[in-house]
Amino acid sequence: MKRLTTLILILITIFYGALLFAMTPTGGDDITIIHAGTLLAVPGTAPKERQSLVISNGKVIEIIDGFVNAEEYSTESNVTTVDLSQRFVMPGMMDMHVHLTMDNRAARSNFYKTSDADFAMVAVENASLTLMAGVTTVRDLMAMSGEAIMAVRDAINRGVIPGPRIIAAGYALSATAGHSDHFNVREDFAQLYHSSGVCDGAVDCRRAVRDQYKLGAEVIKIMATGGGGDRNGKKDSAAEMFSDELVAIVQAAHRLDLKVTAHAHGTDGINAALEAGVDSVEHSSYMDDTSIKLYRKTGAHLVATAALPKYFQQHPDIPDPVKMGLKVKAVEVNELLHKAHKNGVLFSMGSDAGISNHGDNADELLSYVEIGMTPMEAIETATVNTAALLGMSDKLGSLEPGKIADVIALDRDPLQDISAVKEVSYVMRNGIVFKHR
Ligand SMILES: [Zn+2]
Repeated sequence: MKRLTTLILILITIFYGALLFAMTPTGGDDITIIHAGTLLAVPGTAPKERQSLVISNGKVIEIIDGFVNAEEYSTESNVTTVDLSQRFVMPGMMDMHVHLTMDNRAARSNFYKTSDADFAMVAVENASLTLMAGVTTVRDLMAMSGEAIMAVRDAINRGVIPGPRIIAAGYALSATAGHSDHFNVREDFAQLYHSSGVCDGAVDCRRAVRDQYKLGAEVIKIMATGGGGDRNGKKDSAAEMFSDELVAIVQAAHRLDLKVTAHAHGTDGINAALEAGVDSVEHSSYMDDTSIKLYRKTGAHLVATAALPKYFQQHPDIPDPVKMGLKVKAVEVNELLHKAHKNGVLFSMGSDAGISNHGDNADELLSYVEIGMTPMEAIETATVNTAALLGMSDKLGSLEPGKIADVIALDRDPLQDISAVKEVSYVMRNGIVFKHR
């Protein structure tokens, strides 16, 4: 008898619990209808005027011609209409190369003075700046603290703090004394701060991939050459890693379903990385005809960071060696980027924010127009192309039924003047509004 009473009590609790749950208005049941003056739903296809973008549960439900009112649409659901009838509405931008734990306000990123917790706080601030600039997805391609970037990513995913969706690399993979190893410091310091990304030889480099995966990485970053201002970052510098190391990294990463991207400036490093089967190359400064052929053959994307040289020129306070390297770049590299684009190489947008300013990510698109892209092509590099590079074309990059509702609005038409991408007045990520002015 006692058992039966307990059972009845449990059933009543479940029933009322379910009833209470059904009665509680959940965010998921709400519907948002955005009245878009102009809607560029799928970059690469023509935009349409006066469209209603219907969003629920963080996803696009449908797109209707004309402006549909809440009452017309549904009397059962809680429907909110958003007036963007004077704006240009498009998918959120995606930046494939940022460093959220890094800050060009140098004192905030001094590795030897800053704790993991400090780096997390730096990343929290930068994540917010990024999202408010209309960038709803980023790849973080090397963190000052692997723990910090994963914690910030997870907090954003939980909805605790504002920021873009982060695909994080953790620590970059580099040979000893390579671009992301610590050098020019006391040897005992260098030993102490030895990153799990530093590896020598194929076996050790497989281990380094797995270490980043264990840390929570969703993409792998390789340093195939030195930095732009480094001894090993010149046009004719040899790759910093051997081919067996590059191949081992790509194979180990792909087995874990992780994409691989390689930082490379010199021709040898670019071509070695492409031959090893990387999914994208960062900077790709000194390409030759072989590089362009390899891009075409493998389908790898070029993440140009083309706005960076201009940023350095405008900031005389940047240290000289870095500036010298990039001054040369500005002229010669832009011609090579132009050639790559004309020859059908796929570009994905990447700004290297963290070196340049967080929140100025969209400057990159202005540079793409300068190297010969149409404004539409530039927008494609930050939407449909980036979604393809991430292997997330089914979820991101365009606004179509079933896709994630990452939506931004601009005050002006970027197809007329690309600088309009700098004037973001509305930001929605996963169906949640973060900015509306
Ligand atoms: Zn970078």
